[in-house]
Amino acid sequence: MNVTNDPGQPDFLPPFLPRLLLVDDEPRLLSSLYELLRDRQYQLVTATCGVEALEELDRQRFDLVLLDLRLPDMSGHEIMDIINAKAMDCDVIVMSGEVGIEAAIGALKRGAYDYLRKPYSREELLKTVENALQQRRLAVDNQSIAERLENSEKMYRYLVDSSPDIIYTLDHDGNFTFINDRAYQVLGYAREELLGRHYTMLVHDEDLNPARYAFKHGEPRASRSVELRLKCKTGSVGSDRTFNNTLMTIPLKALGMEGQTSALLGTYGVARDITDRKRAEEMISYQAYHDILTDLPNRMLFKDRLGLAVIQAKRKETELAVMFVDLDRFKLVNDTLGHVKGDELLQQAAQRLKDCLRRGDTLARQGGDEFTIVLPELRDRSDAKAIADKFLETLQKPFDLDGHIVHISASIGIAVYPNDGENIDELLRHADIAMYQVKALGKNGHAFYHDSMLDISHQKIALEQALRRALENGELEMYYQPQVDVATGRIIGAEGLMRWNHPQRGLLSAGEFLPFAEENGLMLPLSDWMLDALCRDVLLWNQAGGDAIRLSLNLSPQYLDRGDFFEKMRGALTRYGISPAQIEVEITENICIRNPQYAIDQLNKLCQLGVSVAIDDFGTGYSSLAYLHRFPIHTIKIDQSFVKEIHDENGHYPVILAIISIARGLGLHLVAEGVETGTQARYLEANGCTTMQGYLYHRPISLASFLDVLRAQAQTLLELQGREPAANIHAARA
Ligand code: C2E
Ligand code: CA
Ligand code: CA
Repeated sequence: MNVTNDPGQPDFLPPFLPRLLLVDDEPRLLSSLYELLRDRQYQLVTATCGVEALEELDRQRFDLVLLDLRLPDMSGHEIMDIINAKAMDCDVIVMSGEVGIEAAIGALKRGAYDYLRKPYSREELLKTVENALQQRRLAVDNQSIAERLENSEKMYRYLVDSSPDIIYTLDHDGNFTFINDRAYQVLGYAREELLGRHYTMLVHDEDLNPARYAFKHGEPRASRSVELRLKCKTGSVGSDRTFNNTLMTIPLKALGMEGQTSALLGTYGVARDITDRKRAEEMISYQAYHDILTDLPNRMLFKDRLGLAVIQAKRKETELAVMFVDLDRFKLVNDTLGHVKGDELLQQAAQRLKDCLRRGDTLARQGGDEFTIVLPELRDRSDAKAIADKFLETLQKPFDLDGHIVHISASIGIAVYPNDGENIDELLRHADIAMYQVKALGKNGHAFYHDSMLDISHQKIALEQALRRALENGELEMYYQPQVDVATGRIIGAEGLMRWNHPQRGLLSAGEFLPFAEENGLMLPLSDWMLDALCRDVLLWNQAGGDAIRLSLNLSPQYLDRGDFFEKMRGALTRYGISPAQIEVEITENICIRNPQYAIDQLNKLCQLGVSVAIDDFGTGYSSLAYLHRFPIHTIKIDQSFVKEIHDENGHYPVILAIISIARGLGLHLVAEGVETGTQARYLEANGCTTMQGYLYHRPISLASFLDVLRAQAQTLLELQGREPAANIHAARA
């Protein structure tokens, strides 16, 4: 019987009022129970038998059942069994008139909230009902608190586990007491593998000391940082990652984590993976200290290492050597073959130098084609000399630049600590000066620094400035070295060679100042001047009867490069009214390599004009013979170095013979340079080279002297023409 709609109770009872089921088969007792509870804030439902009670329990949820034990159709115990079996969430207060203790125990065993003996007092019943309901309310509250707690715990877990950093706690002994999931993602260790284990199992062996220090020493609650490499589980080499660890010593008590009294302190740590940043930083600092092209230490790192080496040498009272290595002819390769090949040459050269060094030596690229080396702990100077010799030897072997075979050499200057300098800068400067000395004395060698070199390097600077002035002050002059046809004994040509009347140092030959001019961009104004001077002089030759004598002029690569050489040449010839047929341009083989087509064009235009072309220093350059076919060439000049080899008239000098046969095969005119002895002259003539230039016949001479020679020759010829022609040769040779 549902009594909820009883007129005594308002319909609008709020739904959260506790709902009670009153079960008793005695109508009088049931209604008195009902009367007793009706004015309170309960929803009341009544049942008079077991079946009815069970129906009500199935129909709706009750907070409390007031249950009579003895019912006509079943016992109260049976009803409770069903309530328990169905896990109904309601409390039961059992009321019974039975005296036996078993009934009470049976009820309480089944989970009854309380047991009331009939007849109960009104107060007793009300109090028991109220207590039961109160306890339920508490239980519900507790439940929701527990749920909220669980949720918030989940929330923290989530926040901690999805943190980008590894978060952990250690106990007093350094064992993991907590670690978040991140450890697994980053290091590959599952939580269970770490919990209870000592933190050192994760730390890279080399970082154990700083780790121990950081984990041990810390003021409670003050945070400190340490950078550590941690080991990944995969264990593969190089799989370490670097972490920035922020640590804090924490009193475990404060966290409610207190264990035994000995474990009062623990460590809370956050490890942030900074591997990528580290790698980027390492990369940047590597690049800041290394040369990208050769991968060698750069100037900065070199100074650093040299500084350390000096300190060590000072402490140990040993010597050390600093070397300055400059590649000879690198600029030429770079200019002629281009930067790509130039770079490759530098890389190969760097590798060769590196292969000559011992452990502990530092090789660095100073820039351009300059390398520096520090050799610490020198036993004596011969150590440094041995390495310099090795350098020279290894660099002398040909370089293969993608099929272009190139020969270079090096100039090496050496300064030794402490004799040649006590600090980095002094040592470097003096090694540099020694290197320049080698350059000035013909390159391809090494020299130890000596104080006397200081003057020489000062002289060099002075020379550059003076050369600029020389142009303005008219101190330059063209000299002429005759070329003799030994078959007739006649001068058939002359090479123009520049001379400098130095106000203090006297007459300087071209070899003494033109290399500096090339380095300092003075070659262009000098060549302009030369062209003009030559033309003026040729006019005088012609007046002296030398109009059949051909002038050879040296064309500097820089000048041909400029692009308007042809125009300048033509302009000058026209201006002075000189026949192009009287002019020959001497170029070196190297000129043809850089931009062959351009060179060919320029030289072709010259040829069309009537100027002829000679290859100077033939055999020393590295252009291939193939160019000879593509070039409008008329003359080959055998380089002096080959001629110097000739010591025996009946000897065999294959290079000379080869050059002679090349010239013959291509129908070219041949001139031997630097002929100094009769032996050389006779060997050359016997093998078919009849035009000679060298000290044996004439040194380079001033214009005035050359004009005298020309006049004399013209005079002789005139006189000879008056006599019988057969005497010509004899007279001219005399
Ligand atoms: P190069 O063209 O090979 O000139 C020949 C060099 O050998 C000259 O040196 C000459 O004086 C020297 N010589 C001639 N005969 C003998 C000999 O029998 N024995 C020895 N040992 N040497 C001999 P120089 O005048 O010092 O010229 C050196 C280089 O400077 C020349 O080599 C040439 O490449 C360049 N040069 C000279 N004058 C000029 C110039 O007016 N313009 C340009 N662009 N370059 C020049
Ligand atoms: Ca020449
Ligand atoms: Ca020459």
